[in-house]
Amino acid sequence: MAYAIGIDIGGTKVALALVDEYGKVREQSKIPTDTSIEPTAMIAKINQEVESLLKQAAVSLEDMDGIGIGSPGPLDSKNGMISCPPNLQNWRDVDIVAQVKNHFGLPVILENDANAAAMAEKWLGAAKENDNFAYVTISTGIGAGLFADGKLLGGARGNAGDIGHTVVDPAYGRCPCGQYGCLEFIASGTAIGKRGSEIAGKPLTTEQVFDLYHQRDEKIQTYIEDVFQKIGIALVSLINTFDPEKIVLGGGVSKVGEPLFSAVRAYVSQYALNPAGRNTEIVPAELDQNAGVVGAAGLVFNLK
Ligand SMILES: [Zn+2]
Repeated sequence: MAYAIGIDIGGTKVALALVDEYGKVREQSKIPTDTSIEPTAMIAKINQEVESLLKQAAVSLEDMDGIGIGSPGPLDSKNGMISCPPNLQNWRDVDIVAQVKNHFGLPVILENDANAAAMAEKWLGAAKENDNFAYVTISTGIGAGLFADGKLLGGARGNAGDIGHTVVDPAYGRCPCGQYGCLEFIASGTAIGKRGSEIAGKPLTTEQVFDLYHQRDEKIQTYIEDVFQKIGIALVSLINTFDPEKIVLGGGVSKVGEPLFSAVRAYVSQYALNPAGRNTEIVPAELDQNAGVVGAAGLVFNLK
């Protein structure tokens, strides 16, 4: 049996899993992301955690095919560097691949977290049968991983698919990136919580905004339907640009389910330019729970 370790680095926690070649998670754990220490010290903690996972499972380095890492971007996957993720403030040009590789002497691959999750959906989830698809995560942020002709499309540095900063409606105001009306600024979980609170006139979590939506609060309903339409606009751009067979939607906001899916399907069926594109399948992700770590491990097996 061959094994890989998948590591999913987030702003608050690092998730790790020992995954076998069939995608089964054998051991997993989480450690808090400590941004008060140097990235090198945090990576040493990650290496330690990998060692204890291997020990718990009684798997030796000889049985390991490698280690896959999913990280927030921007990054430079070709050079194994995490460049400047907004939620990892002191992580600037960190050569994480070299630091993990030197410790274990195994192949190490780095991809942005949306690409890792797209790999999981291709390997074991909603896109097993698809060679051309986009995985879009709508969570605290918005990102996408793209598969074209059966291969993960990374771009020159591994940042392809960053659709969170596609402009969909400048009237919504200025995104921290500097542009007006980015999708992430309008439709991320964070954005929905913030604007929903403004509309309701009291502080609400994203979940509470969706509760009001389900209770048919008129103002919130109008607002959320507009958010769904903006997501539809972004998906039409994605379809027009990449001609995927399928779009897989994941992340916390996608959990609202049918109202979102029917709204974006209706928008796409009307506005995608190519008649075939109007019928692009839009389906929920299947692996949300472990997609990050399983996908990161999948990057390793996909090397062969
Ligand atoms: Zn932006």
